[in-house]
Amino acid sequence: MATPTPSKVHIFDTTLRDGEQSPGCSMTVAEKVRLAHKLSDLGVDIMEAGFPIASAGDFEAVQKVGREVAVKVAALARCTALDVERAAKALEGSKVAPRIHVFLATSDVHLKYKLKKTRAQVLEEAAKAVTLARRYVEDVEFSAEDGGRTPVEYLIEVARAVVGAGAGTVNIPDTVGYGIPEEYGALIGQVARALGSSAVVSVHCHNDLGLAVANSLAAVQNGARQIECTVNGIGERAGNCSLEEIVMVLKTRADKLPFVTGIRTEELFPASQLLTEIIGVGVQPNKAIVGRNAFAHEAGIHQDGFLKERTTYEIIEPHSVGVPESRLVLGKHSGRHALNSRCTELGLHLDKDQLDQVYARFSAFTDTKKGILDEEILKLANEVLAGGASRKTA
Ligand code: MN
Repeated sequence: MATPTPSKVHIFDTTLRDGEQSPGCSMTVAEKVRLAHKLSDLGVDIMEAGFPIASAGDFEAVQKVGREVAVKVAALARCTALDVERAAKALEGSKVAPRIHVFLATSDVHLKYKLKKTRAQVLEEAAKAVTLARRYVEDVEFSAEDGGRTPVEYLIEVARAVVGAGAGTVNIPDTVGYGIPEEYGALIGQVARALGSSAVVSVHCHNDLGLAVANSLAAVQNGARQIECTVNGIGERAGNCSLEEIVMVLKTRADKLPFVTGIRTEELFPASQLLTEIIGVGVQPNKAIVGRNAFAHEAGIHQDGFLKERTTYEIIEPHSVGVPESRLVLGKHSGRHALNSRCTELGLHLDKDQLDQVYARFSAFTDTKKGILDEEILKLANEVLAGGASRKTA
């Protein structure tokens, strides 16, 4: 039986909008343009470059990115005429047909306390904003803010209304990161079945419970075909779905997941590094895919296995995500195999007896220190090689 053709999942990057609006992550217009070029190298399908009504800087960033980068650019707008017109203005002259992304909250808690509006009012305003946006652009996305906590019947009613008004993409965000995969996946499945082929269902998950990637995956398995995500997972509060993680889940487990993205994965690490350089905020060392330790091995048993055959302890080839090489970190958990391999790299060839002696000194050293530098290994080894025979018989 032939394998079914994998479905394309669109990667909608919002590093320049949701990511940028999180504490410590703001970027100047020039920095946004620089990162936008890297996102283009990365192969994102669409990038949200800002919220033009929010500030002059956001307006200018959307305008510059749209005019300089040959990727579809989205501009965010609330469901008001002023917002939509401002977004349309910022997108004028874009290289690639742009998208206006309008949003309005749909959950009871947002309607009651934040908007102080009825469901009927929200429904009407949403459809009206989409109709207006369609006067300026062909491609309109509607987001039902706090969709994850919206009763499904109303969510479907809103989704059908905005599609009827001309939205091509309906995003159901888990704005507050409250969903769990099975529940959120089921919600997405119900909306996707209700819309059929009339629109693309999109997801936008926050990471308040550390489930943004898992929830996005559940959504895709239930019919979503666009994932909104950010480089390094930056974004409001605990951040958004991490682009590098969701892309590598789909790629690494293609045996179980019949989906493809257009991402050039070799650019994942360079994109992560550039973002860190620009905002001055890095990822934790143990961050999947792009963290400093993601391809580092220190434990002796792991190092020994890794040196014999990489796949014993690595499921991703570092070069495939743009990481130069795996790192064997020498420390107190390391064994002779890794130490000998490092000594060989440093140009020292030790016999078994010499290796035992260097290893004894190495163990004593690393028991009291956090790590060991190559120069320190050289010093220990040279002491053994210099004093070797006399010490042995002493
Ligand atoms: Mn968000």
